[in-house]
Amino acid sequence: MVYLDNAATTPVEPEVIQAMLPYFTERFGNASGIYEIASVSKTAIRNARQKCAQLMGAQPEEVFFTSGGTESDNWAVFEGAHAAGEKRHLLTSAVEHPAVLQSFRALEREGYEVEYLPVDGEGFCLPETVEAAIRPDTGLISIMTANNEIGTLQRIAQIGGIAKKHGILFHTDAVQAYGQIPLDTEELQADLLSASAHKLGGPKGVGLLYVRKGVPLGSRQKGGGQERARRAGTENVPGIVGFGEAARIAGERMRERQERVSGLRDLLLALLTDKIPNALLNGPAAYGGERLPGNLNLTIPGIEGESLLILLDGQGICASSGSACSTGAAEPSHVLTAIGRSPEQAKASLRLTLSHRNTEEEIREAAEGIAAAVSRLRSLRES
Ligand code: PLP
Repeated sequence: MVYLDNAATTPVEPEVIQAMLPYFTERFGNASGIYEIASVSKTAIRNARQKCAQLMGAQPEEVFFTSGGTESDNWAVFEGAHAAGEKRHLLTSAVEHPAVLQSFRALEREGYEVEYLPVDGEGFCLPETVEAAIRPDTGLISIMTANNEIGTLQRIAQIGGIAKKHGILFHTDAVQAYGQIPLDTEELQADLLSASAHKLGGPKGVGLLYVRKGVPLGSRQKGGGQERARRAGTENVPGIVGFGEAARIAGERMRERQERVSGLRDLLLALLTDKIPNALLNGPAAYGGERLPGNLNLTIPGIEGESLLILLDGQGICASSGSACSTGAAEPSHVLTAIGRSPEQAKASLRLTLSHRNTEEEIREAAEGIAAAVSRLRSLRES
């Protein structure tokens, strides 16, 4: 198998599994207890919080564990909007993940006014576009750090600076960026930041929300006093331990992985554009620094993305068209149409997301397989 869908999820790193295992068995205590095995769990959560904070230059007390990126995004958007009180004008971009977009749609039904800001042809929601949309009653800005479909790295530090200058709460969905590229919450000037463990070699079902010290964010999960009374529910101790370990490893190996993955991605792009006539790159120039290292997204005129995925699956190549969350839906990707692709071009798209586990041999094999599948689909269409 050649796995090229790492933006959808990643396998759990062996060291992460080892770190988690004892917390399913002998260290099973509920961290709220007052006996020995409870304090073992409490200490493990504290250590994981430290590691997760360190990966983004935050303080441990600014990290709140959740059930994943979706919960973190929902929490940030709903409670961020509510924290802004009477300021009921909200800004986000047209290319956000559904976890953010659907939260804003729900807020519209609560009477909020939401603007979905346009992006340019490479997927950038420009800082000047954000600033021009700000009004005296703007209460929250949410712009993602890295796009899950086309890999665009937004100019978050600039957007964060603008939000701060105007005294507006700023959230960034960093689910695709956390653990892949260096992130520093001070530099980004984010008040709220979402991340998810399963995108960086951690387990599924655990995420975090960074909440800058002093930000008056209400709780969304009601119940017990866990996570300093801000996120109720018995902590997923093995998951949190795994997240911490994945964050530690990602931090230690980031530079070497980034170089390796972007090199493989550039090789794949070169091979595919050579073998497939008329393929168009979606998103920023792959060789520049404003794209996620492992992301490649192509529009391949004359094919249907879903049919291509089925042929590739038959050859043991795992890829995606649009994002995994919307695969199966007949709708063309909202991200590709936002950058100016027609619905037909959007449906003719292929997303390949690489990781440090891929080898050059796999990349060459995948390029051959993809090119063969494309020419088969194109010839079927012509006949
Ligand atoms: N935000 C982005 C940008 C994502 O790519 C994803 C997952 O694909 C999510 C949020 C949701 O994260 P989770 O799968 O942990 O709920």
